[in-house]
Amino acid sequence: MLTATQVKQCALSLGADAVGIGNIERWAGAPIQQDPRQIMPRARSVIAMAFRVMRGSLRGIEEGTFFSNYSAMGYGGLTYLYMPLTVINLAKALEDDGFEAIPYGHQSDWRAIGQTGDLKKNYSFPVKPGRACPDVMVNQRIAAYLCGLGEIGWSKMFLTPQFGPRQRLGIVITEAALEPDPIYAGPPLCNRCMACVRDCPAGAIPRDRGVKATLAGHDVEWADVNMERCDICFRGAVPMAEGEQAEEYCDPMFGKKVKRAPWSPFYKKPKNLYNTGQAICGARGCTRACLTSLEARGVLSNKFHSPFRPDGKCPWRNVEPPAEQPKSEPPATHKEAD
Ligand code: SF4
Ligand code: SF4
Repeated sequence: MLTATQVKQCALSLGADAVGIGNIERWAGAPIQQDPRQIMPRARSVIAMAFRVMRGSLRGIEEGTFFSNYSAMGYGGLTYLYMPLTVINLAKALEDDGFEAIPYGHQSDWRAIGQTGDLKKNYSFPVKPGRACPDVMVNQRIAAYLCGLGEIGWSKMFLTPQFGPRQRLGIVITEAALEPDPIYAGPPLCNRCMACVRDCPAGAIPRDRGVKATLAGHDVEWADVNMERCDICFRGAVPMAEGEQAEEYCDPMFGKKVKRAPWSPFYKKPKNLYNTGQAICGARGCTRACLTSLEARGVLSNKFHSPFRPDGKCPWRNVEPPAEQPKSEPPATHKEAD
């Protein structure tokens, strides 16, 4: 039988950047719609993996000149392309060893609950009493916490000691009983600096309103983030006021007409990249400001020769379209070398 060490080595060799294991008993008391045992009643372990978002993928948004790389390579592509390959191949290794394993990447589009945790209206129903409504959505951040990968920051982002907020998370649920890792007890990562609150363009992260939870006997708290506001603002839009006449930025969101937000330099929302790649705010508060803060405190192990923000300031914030659309440059002329 594969040992926990072998499983973790396998995950790292397949492309995960950090990996931890939690025993299924840590999910005792989980809400039925988020309980991995609802999907796999004989589950014994969950393996959580972090897949780093390259710091370079955030660079173009910092400069305001290249937004798609974070959406593609740091968001949608990582979620829908890269991470599935790793979780599928890790699940194969477990199944080759005789233990059923679910390659659970980040697929939650079919989940029965909305952003607030409430059941979606007229969406799905249980196949029999005692079963959750399909689809169950295992909370990836909580899974990563229960597998010892790090902390849930005030921003609600998962923070690891390697990358801070710079990762996406994936899990494998398995019937294999593997030696669990301890819950993270290293140097504190979130020091409640509130940089995420200050820099979130949507004002979606409250300073003084939290959500408390007890996870495997540990009391944790994160901000009660306004997810609807984040979802809209993240895409570079803001809801229009009742009766407001403004040019529409894209299709209505959450039943509301939306217009360009001042932090979008696009007249219209660019098309999605890999389904979820739609980041125009570039996670200015919850990721870029947080990363700046964590790097300045020197608490991350993935170190760079230059700081993410050399002067600690966000290089640009809000923008207004110019009176006239920018004109195309005349074709460049190249003088051939003699
Ligand atoms: S920006 Fe500060 S308060 Fe917010 S999650 Fe990061 S470390 Fe915590
Ligand atoms: S993604 Fe953007 S809007 Fe959402 S919480 Fe992060 S900084 Fe705020």
